[in-house]
Amino acid sequence: MILHRKKTALRLLVLASLLLEIEPGMPSARALESAGSNPPIKVVATFPVLKDLVQQVGRDRVAVTSLLNGLESEHTYTPKPTDIISIQEAQMLVQIGLGLEVWVQALIKNADNRRLLIVTTSTGVALLKNQENHNDSHSLGDPHIWLDPENVKRMLRHITEGLLKIDPAHQDYYLRNQTEYIKDLDATQQRLLIKLRPLRNKQIVTHHAAWSYFARRFGFTIRGSITPQVGTEPSAKHLFDLIRMIKTEKIRVIVSEPQLNPKLPQMLAQETGAAVVVLTPIPGAVPGAETYRSMIEYDVDQLVNALQD
Ligand SMILES: [Zn+2]
Repeated sequence: MILHRKKTALRLLVLASLLLEIEPGMPSARALESAGSNPPIKVVATFPVLKDLVQQVGRDRVAVTSLLNGLESEHTYTPKPTDIISIQEAQMLVQIGLGLEVWVQALIKNADNRRLLIVTTSTGVALLKNQENHNDSHSLGDPHIWLDPENVKRMLRHITEGLLKIDPAHQDYYLRNQTEYIKDLDATQQRLLIKLRPLRNKQIVTHHAAWSYFARRFGFTIRGSITPQVGTEPSAKHLFDLIRMIKTEKIRVIVSEPQLNPKLPQMLAQETGAAVVVLTPIPGAVPGAETYRSMIEYDVDQLVNALQD
């Protein structure tokens, strides 16, 4: 009797394993259902900072592309024909707003994607005034908000909210990733502030007016910008005044950016004896600065190396 039961149990086990083997070739209704709800959310970011932030929260639940690459300037970008297709296929578009991406509105209009969720990450961020007093598209305030990690926390929350609207079933996942990233960001910021403590001279001249939020957070003083408005050549008088100021005030650092022509920073350095320091406001432009966090770390390190005694 006991033997018979054992045999039956064994037969059932064999049958079960046979069924399991068959399953991969013939997906059950349940397997189909979960596969259907599982493709990653298609997200378009206007530029690489936002791509990285979406990836930090969405991880393997998102497929993100960026319209700009790390070496293109956010001010002079000319959209590619494929940008419209990216937006047509996307479920969510993430932008800074504040008139920074002047080229994106026409793309969104032409893509005519009714299901597209637009996330504007600058909403609610306390803005600084534009560094230079000129009338341009940035009259809403300085749009380079991401160069302060504290602003990035708020930007990240907008992104999480967007993902939750599209995919509420994975709420815990997105919120956990957000919390983890903010913790890492805080740790990076603390480490950098400690590195900066011994620095006494923190005066710099920047390439374009992108660094106000960064300077405020990390205690730098911006004494001027070479190109107040990207896409417009600075006047000879502006450059002459800058050279005189750098000499009399003994400014040691002139910032250059990989997205802009290095000619003017180099010329100013030759005229004054100050050093050219490459800082990038966009990740993916220089090796070692592929993500937002590594970029901020890279930028601070570059300045610490150039300004220490
Ligand atoms: Zn800029």
